[in-house]
Amino acid sequence: MGLLDGKYAIITGAASARGLGKATAQLFADHGATVAILDLDEGAAQAAADDLGAGHLGLACDVTDKAACQAVIERLTLAWDRIDILVNNAGITQPLKSLQIEAAHYDAVLNVNLRGTLYMTQAVVPVMQKSGGGSIVNMSSVSAQRGGGIFGGPHYSAAKAGVLGLTKAMAREFAPDQIRINAICPGFIATDITAGKLTPEMMETILTGIPMGRAGEARDVAGCALFLASDLSAYCTGTEVDVNGGSLI
Ligand code: NAD
Repeated sequence: MGLLDGKYAIITGAASARGLGKATAQLFADHGATVAILDLDEGAAQAAADDLGAGHLGLACDVTDKAACQAVIERLTLAWDRIDILVNNAGITQPLKSLQIEAAHYDAVLNVNLRGTLYMTQAVVPVMQKSGGGSIVNMSSVSAQRGGGIFGGPHYSAAKAGVLGLTKAMAREFAPDQIRINAICPGFIATDITAGKLTPEMMETILTGIPMGRAGEARDVAGCALFLASDLSAYCTGTEVDVNGGSLI
């Protein structure tokens, strides 16, 4: 018996093969969920969905585009009669310092990480309200909590701190609808978001700051997402869960 038997789940930004979204999609599917992977490219999203097994969907959706978020949820509700789980996972970062950030950098990072979380939640909540509830998991970051890491810029920290604010405000607003909204704050997890962008010195500095002495793996975050998506966390809403090897101790 799976923890998500009979559930319908959407995960944004889940086409990246080594990413947190893909690992979460696989774990959800292994636990009985029917999954829709949303990402920028429909072919890549469908290929990622096919990897999960039969019956899963892959659709194009740029989460920075409100009309696209609404349209993809309309498409999905033609195939599914309910949506139980949304994971707002799509995100980008840029290794910039404060004085290097131009308006275009700021817009790009805020748009995907923060605006995208709002837009997709706005599209999904009415569907969840109709069916009596659901669980939304937002991907924040340790960068929101400790004022940046060695890689993400201050605009990324600001966006991810905004995700925590949105999570708590929307959790309060939609709790009466039995829609739970929680955030995960991953620490350093080896994925394409940093692949090829870290020098050995940067890597050593990162690992020195992690008491468990290793980078996280995508499945470490997926396990936490499974807990928050499932009924195991039935009375948790508005929380943030750290998955960081002890980085904040
Ligand atoms: P990744 O780069 O492997 O995957 C991100 C995915 O988002 C990609 O598939 C990309 O195509 C997609 N995406 C980008 N812009 C999009 C848009 N506008 N609309 C839809 N999809 C879009 O990254 P990851 O490491 O798997 O990160 C996943 C999430 O976890 C992100 O929100 C990231 O900020 C967060 N996070 C990652 C780490 C880490 O160390 N890897 C740490 C903390 C938080």
